Amino acid sequence: MKFSILAESLNKMEKTAKRLELTQYLVELFEKTPQDVISRIVYLLQGKLRPDFEGIELGVAEKLAIRAISKSSGITTKRIEEAYRKSGDLGQAATKILEQKTQTTFLVENITVERVYETLFKIARLEGSRSQDMKMKYISSLLNDATPLEASYILKILLGTLRLGVAENTVMDALAIAYTGSKENRKPLEHAYNVSSDLGKVAETIASKGIKGVEEFEIILFNPIRPMLADRVKSEEEAIEKMGIEFAAEYKLDGERVQVHVEKEKVVLFSRSLENISEYYPDIIEKIPNAVLADQAILEAEAVAINENTGEFLPFQELMHRRRKYKIEKAVSQYPITVNFFDILYHNGKSCLEQEYKERRKLLEKIIKEDEFAKHVPMGIVKNQNEIQEFLENSINSGSEGLMLKMLDKPYQAGSRGNYWLKLKREYQNELGDSLDLVVIGAFFGKGRRTGRYGTLLLASYDEDTDTFTSICKVGTGFTDEYLDQLYQILSDKVTIKKNPRIDSEMEADVWFEPELVIEIVASEITLSPIHKAAKDAIRKDAGLALRFPKFTGKIRVEKFAEDASTNEEVIALYKGQKKVAHDKSLM
Ligand code: ATP
Repeated sequence: MKFSILAESLNKMEKTAKRLELTQYLVELFEKTPQDVISRIVYLLQGKLRPDFEGIELGVAEKLAIRAISKSSGITTKRIEEAYRKSGDLGQAATKILEQKTQTTFLVENITVERVYETLFKIARLEGSRSQDMKMKYISSLLNDATPLEASYILKILLGTLRLGVAENTVMDALAIAYTGSKENRKPLEHAYNVSSDLGKVAETIASKGIKGVEEFEIILFNPIRPMLADRVKSEEEAIEKMGIEFAAEYKLDGERVQVHVEKEKVVLFSRSLENISEYYPDIIEKIPNAVLADQAILEAEAVAINENTGEFLPFQELMHRRRKYKIEKAVSQYPITVNFFDILYHNGKSCLEQEYKERRKLLEKIIKEDEFAKHVPMGIVKNQNEIQEFLENSINSGSEGLMLKMLDKPYQAGSRGNYWLKLKREYQNELGDSLDLVVIGAFFGKGRRTGRYGTLLLASYDEDTDTFTSICKVGTGFTDEYLDQLYQILSDKVTIKKNPRIDSEMEADVWFEPELVIEIVASEITLSPIHKAAKDAIRKDAGLALRFPKFTGKIRVEKFAEDASTNEEVIALYKGQKKVAHDKSLM
């Protein structure tokens, strides 16, 4: 398949934010795509080569791409950097440069999607001392044969700056239309995606086997299942209203969610955002086969740091010591954990998703043999407010965050947040009633004790409509020296030369970061702000929303993507909620 077909589609898609138009362009593209290329097209559309859980990253730095453009065009890196600074987008800058070049000497070959994909794959696989030169060679050979438009998209994919705003749902709509004639047939596609987390595979299945093939799609061991999420409730009373007469209450442990895939001695672990995190938990990999009484299983658990002497649960941040590539053995012995199982999704070749919660729990208790390391999450059946409250107190006294309440007769809804599960957290000493997960977009250097580190961070919420990160506050409290060091280390990998175009901030930070790291913040209030951009114009024209007295809680949410951060919609709801509370109080 000619790469120009894809490049032209990407060009059209980039120019619109309207979902209907995007869907239409995707349908047209899929109709021109041969069956054996469709999965690659779907990955490339999302700026990927394979599904996220395989962890294949292109990881090409701007500097290297600039050298490659220079090699292909004969234009100095300095001039390319200048053009880049002016346009703010390396893909566009390259297009201009290569256009000038084409007019003089270029002989363009027809490059194919297959060739681009294979080359990108080779680039992603390269490691070691000579890899930079090899990467540059591969990139410039592609650029040599590409038209300027094609080159700009190759670069965007390589640099991870392709932003089409096509959500998975839009791709699924388009697949349903292209292959069955109607969007109504999306449901089976969604199910297949939720159980495989691999949109490329879903596309390939519908292209080769039709909708029937998709309907027969089954869970694949070692492919992560998209997690079921919970709605939040503020009180026992609200929980009873939503849950009915009798339901399960489980401790909401304050650790890391781990999806455990086991087949005999082979164990693979996935995080909440479906990354393979096996390397951080060699202890789980080693010990779990002993505790699992089944040939094959997919289980969900919360890994929690414990005090080895007392067995008490420790807070989430203790687990962060394991987020290192080297000396993991030391971290494992210094920061021991237990693995607390709360669900089973697959058992000996069969899906358990359709089974009721109480059946799954029964099976889970049968299959997990408890020992020092593997546990069942504490669970009780509750019927009234007093029983919930008692269980909540026990949970908090054990060092947990609160409760997860689960309907007894409901299936596991992969990939969705709903009312079958509710979370009831301990009241924060946070007047907003809830914490926010915010993206670190910039920083200001510290003074005094904080010299040489970041003293204050600039944070953003996520705007789903525009796919941007809107500034919402500066935060400088809640950081111990240890946190400051840890954050400095993590953030130094994310520094960018220019402010990422997805960042919307009027404030000028000393340093800008790739919007990737999510941290948890509490605050006393949300106020209107003339400077910050979160939910701008939503409450009042020309004003955004900002957090007052924000404080870092100590939680670095490594398991969340930036797009999982608190959205402007949530910020608006919290803003309106506090108005309501103030109003109700004034009536009392
Ligand atoms: P939060 O910010 O509250 O962790 P979240 O968006 O990560 O929210 P939610 O579905 O809202 O996810 O909350 C459920 C999370 O709580 C799970 O992702 C899991 O890590 C954790 N958890 C702890 N104990 C349990 C339990 N018993 N059952 C399910 N999830 C649990």
